[in-house]
Amino acid sequence: MEEEEYEQIPQDNCPGELSQDPTGELSGGEREKQQTPRSLRLLLVGKTGSGKSATGNSILGREVFESKLSARPVTQTAQTGSREWDGTKLEVIDTPDILCPPGQPGAAAVCRALAACAPGPHAVLLVTELGRFTEEDLRAVTRLQEVLGEDVLAHTVLVFTRKEGLDGGSLDEYLRETDHEGLAQLDLECSRRHCGFNNRAPAPEREAQLQELMGKVEAILWEHEGGCYSSKAYQHAQQNSLFKQVQQRQTTQGQGSEEVLLQESWLEEGLSQIRRNQQIHQRLLGRVDPLSLCWP
Ligand code: GDP
Ligand code: MG
Repeated sequence: MEEEEYEQIPQDNCPGELSQDPTGELSGGEREKQQTPRSLRLLLVGKTGSGKSATGNSILGREVFESKLSARPVTQTAQTGSREWDGTKLEVIDTPDILCPPGQPGAAAVCRALAACAPGPHAVLLVTELGRFTEEDLRAVTRLQEVLGEDVLAHTVLVFTRKEGLDGGSLDEYLRETDHEGLAQLDLECSRRHCGFNNRAPAPEREAQLQELMGKVEAILWEHEGGCYSSKAYQHAQQNSLFKQVQQRQTTQGQGSEEVLLQESWLEEGLSQIRRNQQIHQRLLGRVDPLSLCWP
């Protein structure tokens, strides 16, 4: 993957975002506030059963996504939910199994999730079960990079579910002492942005966990001047009127609704248009387009 394929979308290009302080006279705290967009898109990814949907529900403070123990993905399509948090709208996008090979229904749903967070997520939450980091988790990381680009880890927070397994111990320490090289390396590549979630904890504890997660998200925003993660393919797609239609439909549906289940037909239409644009884009650049890897 060539690095130039990926870049941060300047803040002006991300709808619903705050502008920077033009005077440069803001205090540190105020400036930090200004770096936080009014609307934040958080994309949940990880292998099936890692606890993505449960984490999404903890973030939203209510049961929006179906979460249960199952060998097969419970979440079959991209779903979004939102809430207000400290003056910011948090949009949470839950995805099905990211390991799903191209051509499978799950892979198409991952693409829908990507469309749902256009022009790109502000933070990717890579969910993994504490104490059970496996080869499958590593493959999920590789797949994530194939789909979104290697740079995606610069916008990623590692979220460890079943935090209660630490028995009050420190996650930092756990990760410092792990003898799993792959996990240690991943933590480093994510600049040690990690946090734990006990999704079965009482509500106040879950809110405290969210507070900690948002601290990591703020760090990402700070590094990227409040901009979201995107790729040239996303930017190109944005110029497409059908894609705008898709986004508008999502916005309208999102207003006041508990949950947005993405509609198939109009989204398929929009996505196939994007794919055509990407193919042109790819030919122009003479490079492999990462999103093409997940189209069925
Ligand atoms: P997904 O496939 O990644 O969306 O995983 P789910 O959210 O459906 O979770 C799979 C199972 O793990 C469910 O039975 C959840 O209740 C359980 N689970 C998720 N997070 C936690 C957690 O923090 N603690 C415990 N004890 N169970 C959890
Ligand atoms: Mg799920």
